[in-house]
Amino acid sequence: MKKKLTMVLAAILIATTLISCSNNIDKTPDDATIGVQEVNKVAPSEKGNFYDISAVLNETDKTLSATEIVKYVNNENIELKELYFHVYTNAFKQKETAPFLFDDFERAYSRGFEPGYTDISKVKIKDGEDLKYSLQGEGSTILKVELIEPIKPGTAIELSMDFNVKIPPANERFGYGENHFNLGNWYPIAAVYDKTGWNLDKYYPIGDPFYSDSSNYKVTIKAPKDYIIASSGVLISEKVEGESKTSEFQSSNMRDFAFIANKDFKVSEKTVDGTIVKSYYYKDDENRGKEALESGANSIKIFNDKFGKYPYPVYSVVETVFPSGMEYPGLVYISENYYKTFSNKDALTIVVVHETAHQWWYSLVGNDQVDEAWLDEGFATYSESIYIENAISKTRGKNYFNNNVEERHNEGLEDFRNWDDYGPTVYTRGAVVLNELRNKFGDEKFFQIMQEYFKEYEFKIATSEDFVNVSEKVTGQQLDEFYNTWIYAK
Ligand SMILES: [Zn+2]
Repeated sequence: MKKKLTMVLAAILIATTLISCSNNIDKTPDDATIGVQEVNKVAPSEKGNFYDISAVLNETDKTLSATEIVKYVNNENIELKELYFHVYTNAFKQKETAPFLFDDFERAYSRGFEPGYTDISKVKIKDGEDLKYSLQGEGSTILKVELIEPIKPGTAIELSMDFNVKIPPANERFGYGENHFNLGNWYPIAAVYDKTGWNLDKYYPIGDPFYSDSSNYKVTIKAPKDYIIASSGVLISEKVEGESKTSEFQSSNMRDFAFIANKDFKVSEKTVDGTIVKSYYYKDDENRGKEALESGANSIKIFNDKFGKYPYPVYSVVETVFPSGMEYPGLVYISENYYKTFSNKDALTIVVVHETAHQWWYSLVGNDQVDEAWLDEGFATYSESIYIENAISKTRGKNYFNNNVEERHNEGLEDFRNWDDYGPTVYTRGAVVLNELRNKFGDEKFFQIMQEYFKEYEFKIATSEDFVNVSEKVTGQQLDEFYNTWIYAK
């Protein structure tokens, strides 16, 4: 996400982009692609969890009733006696835990506060016994499931959960409006077990506090037939019966699954390097919707070239009700505010570029977004400059960096003092570190580091230490001192 940077964008001006791609295809929702073109294919993650979710979206009640079958694979070298899942929706149950800062609350609940939450009615072994479960943590966002038999290392267990999600009237990752439902972080997702043990962070009100393992998904959504659904996955089949439409989506080796349903969507798409890039926009916002498509497609092209190839068959850029931009694997939310003709066209470009860069830094190379946010926000911010260098000119990219990143970084920020410092600390310091690294070693080595890092950690989780190790390996130098100065700001 980028919350703070959008205000500085007025300073930049991006002329028409120079990269040309194939011709656009406009689709009416009825003939939207059903995975028939020549596209990338990703093999399912062999060691990843598998989520098979069937959900029914009830428009009148603003609910989603679902059954989730999850195959959890124990990739640790110890037995696991219990499993933990994040139930992020529960943070929306009370005003006190809703993930918004005080000054953001009014915007998020412009139609007034109503609770959002998940009621879990059953957790059991698939085709077997019921299991004991409890909700814990601030806002009850952690589900603990007690197992009858521990899961041995290298083996898996299949659980089945029934739950009902109440969607709140929030202008956010999770919420509904007049024409739409935003369903980000909507289902119980397994917590990550890493060398620190279980990661059970709450839903923090700032940053993107999500941390998950690459998994495989099959998600079936039954919704009123007039809704168009943009999702993280590939649409496999669609069936209309009476007043409802059932759509099946699949995705392999992805770390989350989000979707947005909207009655007013129009879709344009084009294929870049084997990826179908789709732009979903409101019918009235067609011009900007097509610009968003161009920016998304150009970003995929440039980042494929600079960092390594985007492996998924589909990537969707989606206009919705949201304050800025938000990244999910295979799908990004872009605020409707950027699509209005009176808004700055360059602001739309930059937000799409930033969120697309997160496909590499967060979605493909995962990281703990709570503890090491610089690895996704800093990298995505620096990727904006790399985009401009390649889409326009090196000088423009440099100017953009100087005016929007470096200057802001130098505005005086010693340490993280309060939430207002979150943006500058995480976004700009990370970008400044990468720029320093590039200045020190030159373009060739720098992009070699980025490519090695991507190749080694694609679909996995990386830490700051991993990035330091890759850069030491590529340059053949000890870089402790460099990183101590820049990352750890000693
Ligand atoms: Zn971001």
